Amino acid sequence: MQALEDCPQITIEQCDQCGSDHMTLALDAKPWTLMRCEDCGFVFTSPRLTDESLARIYSSNYYENAVDYASQQVEPPSDDHLQLASRIRRLLRPGAEPLTSVDVGCGGGRLVEAFSRAGFQACGIEPSEGTVAAACRAGRDVRVQDLSELPSDAFDCVTLMHVLEHVTSPASFAADLYRVTRPGGYCVVEVPNFGSRAAQEQGAEWYPLHPSTHLSHFTPQTLRQCLTNAGFGIVSTSRLGGGGVFDSVSEASPRQKKAGQVPPPMSLKRRALAAVWGLRSTVTSLPAGRRFARWVNWELLGHGEFVRVTAQKN
Ligand SMILES: [Zn+2]
Repeated sequence: MQALEDCPQITIEQCDQCGSDHMTLALDAKPWTLMRCEDCGFVFTSPRLTDESLARIYSSNYYENAVDYASQQVEPPSDDHLQLASRIRRLLRPGAEPLTSVDVGCGGGRLVEAFSRAGFQACGIEPSEGTVAAACRAGRDVRVQDLSELPSDAFDCVTLMHVLEHVTSPASFAADLYRVTRPGGYCVVEVPNFGSRAAQEQGAEWYPLHPSTHLSHFTPQTLRQCLTNAGFGIVSTSRLGGGGVFDSVSEASPRQKKAGQVPPPMSLKRRALAAVWGLRSTVTSLPAGRRFARWVNWELLGHGEFVRVTAQKN
């Protein structure tokens, strides 16, 4: 197969979010470049693959090449999926009609099953036929369909996990998400967090970057902006993933010992973090402690490779 960087590309002349043509280089991730809009801060890959190249990648073998990924996708829902579905269930007031949800770009439908278990009439749409077939075999209501084909004002919850960074125009995609959401319903969007400290420090080496197929590189601020531009009100923002500061404290010294290096003297901040790390099992054995550790890691210290925004259509 042809290398992605050798497929036809187009240069983006205008910011998808605000229409500005003022842009500067955000990151050189050879052979790709990321540009930042000077007016609104939105970061995107430019030049990027043409729509035809992207359509070919997603319809044919995006998942099928990764056999492990496909089988992972039809596994039961994760704890995070189940918690998300029950959280949305609690936010929605039960009415006469059954609650409905759609997961856009649902893969094998793990989140579809989570919403179904939480009492929703849950379905998912996905461009990859092989993945849809696997999801249907697992008894999940998943079909090959486009967001633009879904009815308006139809869903109490619309979820979009690691999809928005792949679409060619997040602004028009978000407008369509708004259209299909029922008034009072919720939309949950999760993407890699380009604003995370890991992304900023690791640059082109940051593992969720994927500048060839990730066309947009959101920060919590630009993701919220994208959803408010479409008409949504923001309910909450959370950061997820990554061991963040706890991993960096726990891994640093054994590795240095193994390499026979004398570790540099620890800064006061690092010593304080090491002390927290020493207490982690005690702290995180309590439910409130686990929440506190997450808050310190993701909110206070700015770690977390992913960002999830919950928005509502008023
Ligand atoms: Zn802009």
